[in-house]
Amino acid sequence: MSDQPRRTPSQAVLTVQEVERLSPDLIRITAGGDGYAEFADNDSTDKYVKILFADPRHGLTPPYDLARLREESPEKLPTRRTYTVRRSDPANRRLVIDFVVHGDEGVAGPWALQAQPGDTIVVSGAGGGYAPSPSAPWHLLVGDHTALPAISSAVEALPADAVGHVILSIANPDDRLLPAVPAGVTLRWTETDAELLEALSTLPWAEGHPGVFAHGERGTIKQVRALLKQHEVPRESLSISAYWALGRAEDQFQAEKREPIGQIE
Ligand SMILES: Cc1cc2nc3c(=O)[nH]c(=O)nc-3n(C[C@H](O)[C@H](O)[C@H](O)COP(=O)(O)OP(=O)(O)OC[C@H]3O[C@@H](n4cnc5c(N)ncnc54)[C@H](O)[C@@H]3O)c2cc1C
Repeated sequence: MSDQPRRTPSQAVLTVQEVERLSPDLIRITAGGDGYAEFADNDSTDKYVKILFADPRHGLTPPYDLARLREESPEKLPTRRTYTVRRSDPANRRLVIDFVVHGDEGVAGPWALQAQPGDTIVVSGAGGGYAPSPSAPWHLLVGDHTALPAISSAVEALPADAVGHVILSIANPDDRLLPAVPAGVTLRWTETDAELLEALSTLPWAEGHPGVFAHGERGTIKQVRALLKQHEVPRESLSISAYWALGRAEDQFQAEKREPIGQIE
């Protein structure tokens, strides 16, 4: 076993600059400042950060010494939530994150609902791994409201002559905000995940394997994976995972991903 101290990823301590209600269920937060220097950007269209929410009652000052907290007072460890970076803007040292409002349960959604310019937000990352492949004969982008930021960035990255399909399950028409898709890409909005699965199962399947990006609620994504398996889409053409799980907080469902109950294969 290595006796090297465990490296903790650096944390960008940012200040909320703008809070914008994009639609009934989406809040856009723009945050930046000197802390942006600690943000490790990348070129993925699905790039994401872990946001660290410390309980104010513990009086911690960011960046947090996570290794020490883990050892000495794990009950004070900040809660971590994963969010897509919709846009990073190195010239102005700021980034944009779109939060889905989903009631008063949880940490991140309720935080976004009451966020104000001047608030602090602590992020670590970015991770990521997908961008539309130039060699994919066609593209298939599937998701729900949580994947809308990543799918929006993917759509912006598609070349004008791209072909394929975007299927998004977003119930409220006012939340259906997506950049214009190229002429050869069809866009289908559904009200429910069940309709999304129906749309996917009846999709005319073009020649060759699509480059797939499919993310959303765990139960739905499990079924999307099963449908894609029928078409024998190879693993290397797939970016597919659950972004959230109905009835489970993120920590619980991320931990379950390592157990058979939480695996979507
Ligand atoms: C790589 C990645 C990128 C993501 N990008 C985004 C993003 O850009 N924007 C975004 O909004 N989300 C995104 N998510 C999803 C987000 O991390 C989860 O929705 C997370 O659970 C929200 O944390 P919370 O503290 O608000 O709720 P939690 O404490 O995790 O959950 C509390 C309760 O709320 C429910 N819940 C959680 N999220 C939702 C939801 N969206 N709709 C309805 N009920 C919900 C849970 O089932 C649970 O019952 C992403 C997830 C991943 C893994």
